[in-house]
Amino acid sequence: MNKEWSEKNKKMQSLIVKEASFKEGIDVLIELREDLFSQITAIVNTFPKEAFYEMPFANAEGYHSKTLVYSIWHIFRIEDIVAHTIIRNDRQVLFTGDHLKKTGSPIITTGNELKGEKIKDFSKQLDFKAVYEYCKAVKDSSNEILKKLEYKDLKRRFSDEDKKRVIDSKSVSTDEEAVWLIDYWCDKDLGGLIRMPFSRHWIMHIEAMCRIKDKLCLKARKGVDPIAFCGLSCTHCAYSEWCGSCRTDYNTCSFAKYSPDGLCPNVVCCEEKGFDGCYECADIRNCKKGFYSMDDSANAVKATAIFINRYGKKELLSVMDNLRKRFDFEWTPEVLGNDIEEGLKILEKNRD
Ligand code: SF4
Ligand code: SF4
Repeated sequence: MNKEWSEKNKKMQSLIVKEASFKEGIDVLIELREDLFSQITAIVNTFPKEAFYEMPFANAEGYHSKTLVYSIWHIFRIEDIVAHTIIRNDRQVLFTGDHLKKTGSPIITTGNELKGEKIKDFSKQLDFKAVYEYCKAVKDSSNEILKKLEYKDLKRRFSDEDKKRVIDSKSVSTDEEAVWLIDYWCDKDLGGLIRMPFSRHWIMHIEAMCRIKDKLCLKARKGVDPIAFCGLSCTHCAYSEWCGSCRTDYNTCSFAKYSPDGLCPNVVCCEEKGFDGCYECADIRNCKKGFYSMDDSANAVKATAIFINRYGKKELLSVMDNLRKRFDFEWTPEVLGNDIEEGLKILEKNRD
């Protein structure tokens, strides 16, 4: 399990069981949920439509055998049912506004009853952006519920009437793969529900989503020019495990991720100017766009681009191989430093 998420989860659990620290525990839980949700936001903002119904681990056992959009539908359907039908006895978020219609979902259940190709077919019918909006509304609604909880609520138990309400809502399939969920939820006290649908369940599925997206990125990079528009080598990049390259639709580099349109400013600028990369640009030394806006590290990236301009992409890849053998570093600026000329000298010195 991701160390940071696991530690936050443990911290939340130890805080909520004491009255004096209960509210602090809820704050930690909400912080954890926001951290986790930011992973979903980044995926939704940067991955192409087809990524949401791909199943790169279709034959595996485990949560990573699903699709990205199935995973988020499933996490938030469960939370919506538990928060509103069981805990609050009010209307699920799915049925407020026109979430159901906008998502295009043919089902209102958690999806536990679906397997293999049925998951893929279901995923293809969903509008992933509408599903994301639904999930965000569920997350915000649950956060409000969590904020209003008191320590004494943790011991609240659920009755046959609560179970009946879930059955009557038809939000859980009667398939044996799904129907057990009703007893599973209703046999817990409210503290138990906080520990599963509201926290751990998110972690397990979002970790699986990370495995799915990393695999899709690896697949996307296969056979693609390994030199990024900014001049970095994707093959030697610290982010290469989870970035599908700025030359594919799976561009999840940080500058693409945080740009409103999901496109790295260096890519946009090069395409406007008709350049293969920033290494063809005469303005590179003074440029402050995208990757080059970073104060300290930009010069190392520029050094790789200027090196390409002088010696070509193949030569950069060969020098980067040599640097990897000779030095222990993750991120290129760690070995090239913060000065363009110094970086160029290091690159030139490490040619064969
Ligand atoms: S962050 Fe840039 S250099 Fe790294 S893998 Fe992605 S596109 Fe390539
Ligand atoms: S202006 Fe900057 S971002 Fe645009 S091509 Fe030149 S170096 Fe690249």
